[in-house]
Amino acid sequence: MTEEKTTEMIEAERYLRQKMLWGDEGQNKLANARVAIVGLDWQGKYTALCLAALGVGNVVLIDGSDADGSNVRKGTTAKSELFLDMVVKSGSRAKSYPELLKVINQQVNFEGYTTNLESRMDLMALEGATVIVDATNSIKSKSLAIAYGREKGIPVISTSSKWGYTKLMATDHNRDLGAQNTEMLMPMFEGYKQDPLMALMMCGVIAEEVKKVAMGNFDKFLEKPVRYKLGPGYRYGFLEKGEDVPLPDKALLARLKLGFLGVGALGNWGAIAASHMGFGRVDTFDYDKFESHNVNRQLLAYDGIDKLKSEHIAAKIVAMTLGRTRSTGYNELILPGFETKEKYDLVFDFVDNRYTRALNCAYAISTGTPLISSGALPDSARWDTHQEGKTQCMNHLMDIYKEGMKEEMIRRASCAANPNPSVVMSNAVGGVGAVIAALSVFEPEKFGEPFNGQLMYRADLSTRFGTSELVGACDCYSKPVPDLRISQKDIDKFVAKNPQLLQQTGTE
Ligand SMILES: [Zn+2]
Repeated sequence: MTEEKTTEMIEAERYLRQKMLWGDEGQNKLANARVAIVGLDWQGKYTALCLAALGVGNVVLIDGSDADGSNVRKGTTAKSELFLDMVVKSGSRAKSYPELLKVINQQVNFEGYTTNLESRMDLMALEGATVIVDATNSIKSKSLAIAYGREKGIPVISTSSKWGYTKLMATDHNRDLGAQNTEMLMPMFEGYKQDPLMALMMCGVIAEEVKKVAMGNFDKFLEKPVRYKLGPGYRYGFLEKGEDVPLPDKALLARLKLGFLGVGALGNWGAIAASHMGFGRVDTFDYDKFESHNVNRQLLAYDGIDKLKSEHIAAKIVAMTLGRTRSTGYNELILPGFETKEKYDLVFDFVDNRYTRALNCAYAISTGTPLISSGALPDSARWDTHQEGKTQCMNHLMDIYKEGMKEEMIRRASCAANPNPSVVMSNAVGGVGAVIAALSVFEPEKFGEPFNGQLMYRADLSTRFGTSELVGACDCYSKPVPDLRISQKDIDKFVAKNPQLLQQTGTE
């Protein structure tokens, strides 16, 4: 077996997958950036987490509050705030979070300031920032941050959340804010507690915009507001004044058994989202180990290099929920005819290649299990729900049996292991979006019917969130699934027929 990697080796390989996109030059720009995050409630914490994974060089954390001790340990009365599976020391958040985030990425320099933006004095903490992210629900804080950004020519990102609704806006000094100025203060969130799920849903989108500023890519910088909301209607619309998003039925969620088919980048973020939802069981399936070039996005591997992904993430799910969600990790390669010991209420397709997606689709159909599939490319993510009688199956959506077989035959014939570039932002959006979509499977009366088609995130389109809708459900659930086994004979035949395809690569 491979010898254990030294910290130095891990750190040297940390950014391999994202440097395929922007090289040392781009990574240096990120390393030289200084990002000020105002507010360490959920919105700020998860934004900091995403930026830590990405490798922004300097992150300044500004918050005047203390850790809140909201997590009661099972079977005891001891309370403590948790960040992922780490216990947050009591006292100032701005003092404890730099240490916790350093565990996620030791190459990042974190500074903490125990203050809220309430006066000119507090603004000192923003000095020298490349970009300011005001992640509070406070009008006062946002107006000071925006005024300071305008005075010093620093772009400002404003984001807030409450249960079931989150919003993001941005400005830079070149832009005349006009009427948007007051909208950026986000008064409708004032006084509300932030929501971890909504914060998770937005943190990848926020990190992407920070990246654009750090890279100097202002022509793609956010112009239109981004919204995400739960409830029965359109996911990317306004929350009406006085409208309250219903709460899920906790007892129902606690009875559910879910399976993650794949726990790479999407599954890591999915696991964090699931840890806030109170599911009874979330099992994990993967055959792989964490490697040093995974940690730029698979951040629960911060202490898991060379460990099995399935077992490590299962242990993290239990730890993040203080044992309230059970989890077993199955170290298994998904092959044709894949079966599971448990009958799941829902499974997630969190893999990164089309052949395994095809196998996951066949598993879901042959066992009658609803499936939510997610995929991410460096500048986009998509997630789609497949449920009998309600939506079309993954094969109808993306011809996954044929495309998967083709991709697998090319892979086996060419023996080429071509690593693909991958970043934390789109994986966060795709993994979290998929897990939140589970609410529509189990409580459609509160959260709307599962969307028939794809829900999408596009980092470079002027509208960041979008949809691609299908009409009608398919009847594949009542039919047998095709045989997806591939023999050497199949591969030889395929190669003889399609020699040109061996030159190509490409996957999702
Ligand atoms: Zn179908």
